[in-house]
Amino acid sequence: MNKLKTLSKVVTIFAVCLFVFQSVQAQNDRALMNEATRITKDTFPISTNTPKGARIYAVNQPNAKMLAAIDRGLTDLFAVARQNNYRKRLNYSDYTIFIARADRTQDGDKNYSPDIAVGAAQYAGSVYDKGGYIYAAGMVLGYNPCAFVFAEHTKNFERVSEVVRYEGEHLVLYHNDRRLYRQTADHSQGGGHPILN
Ligand SMILES: [Zn+2]
Repeated sequence: MNKLKTLSKVVTIFAVCLFVFQSVQAQNDRALMNEATRITKDTFPISTNTPKGARIYAVNQPNAKMLAAIDRGLTDLFAVARQNNYRKRLNYSDYTIFIARADRTQDGDKNYSPDIAVGAAQYAGSVYDKGGYIYAAGMVLGYNPCAFVFAEHTKNFERVSEVVRYEGEHLVLYHNDRRLYRQTADHSQGGGHPILN
């Protein structure tokens, strides 16, 4: 009788923890979704995972090449992070990635370059400023969970891997080397990618 009571208590506590955990997770997801929508003016009805387990929210269903390219970028990121003795956030499932609509598909030199337009903020008046906004290949959206956004690609998927690796650098640094993170987070003063070698 007593044993049964204890057991039911344990089950109750576990269920509550699970519920709290789920509701916090849902809240983070909602906050993240709001931030992604605010930045890109897109909505992300598609939710899926890469084969290696990164979470994806997208404007359209991403194809297998896109998902594989994302995994490749994360694999490269984790490898270079380990070389630098970083240990935190090196799991595919630590990452939530938004695939937005491209606001342009060519850069100023007519190269294929699907990018998103974002408010200029600290880039206002810099060479990147295109009149209150800048074109970015990718942008960090949050640190817990690690999240960023980049634009849909229909070809040149190596660029996807590169963008994923480069946005991921900021997130890995945030969790493993806060000093280097602060030194490298803002590209308006110069400096770019790769940060880690
Ligand atoms: Zn960057």
